[in-house]
Amino acid sequence: MSVTQIQMQEWKAICPKCSHIQYSEKDNNTFCGNCNAPAIMTYGKPSNGRWTSDEARRSWRQLQCSKGCGWDCNSVKCSKCGTTIKGDYFQGSTKWCFVATACFEDEDHPTVETLRYFRDTTLSASHLGRKFIAFYYVNGPKIANFVNRLPFLKQMIKPILNLMAKQIEKKKNPS
Ligand SMILES: [Zn+2]
Ligand SMILES: [Zn+2]
Repeated sequence: MSVTQIQMQEWKAICPKCSHIQYSEKDNNTFCGNCNAPAIMTYGKPSNGRWTSDEARRSWRQLQCSKGCGWDCNSVKCSKCGTTIKGDYFQGSTKWCFVATACFEDEDHPTVETLRYFRDTTLSASHLGRKFIAFYYVNGPKIANFVNRLPFLKQMIKPILNLMAKQIEKKKNPS
């Protein structure tokens, strides 16, 4: 099984003891231990999209220096209770899917899942893609709020998102 490494600038870590959630944007302990650059979360994805076990999937999560100086770390300290939070409890942000989630009213809808997959693989792998993600993190919630107030917009956006998801799925399994 070959594994592609994915880098996420936005991530969260959930303390297993007190359930406090540390976010990359606002908490400490998210800087490179070597050069103080912001830490990014990296995690692996098997090329066929499927892990053999959940444990294998989780073991691929760690923090790395965003400048690539070689520093990496698979734990952070909970800022509330001091417990060490291991990579098992790291999660990528799902913020990207605000608009899609608002339209489908379901975070686990197949189309939302596919768009998330696209963000984590294709978008986050290019410089322009990461710029877009950064833009979307700031503006996505506003757009989602707007859509929530105008239900007819949801009906218009849904087919577009479905179409996007279809194209992504096609690229994923060319046959
Ligand atoms: Zn560094
Ligand atoms: Zn804690």
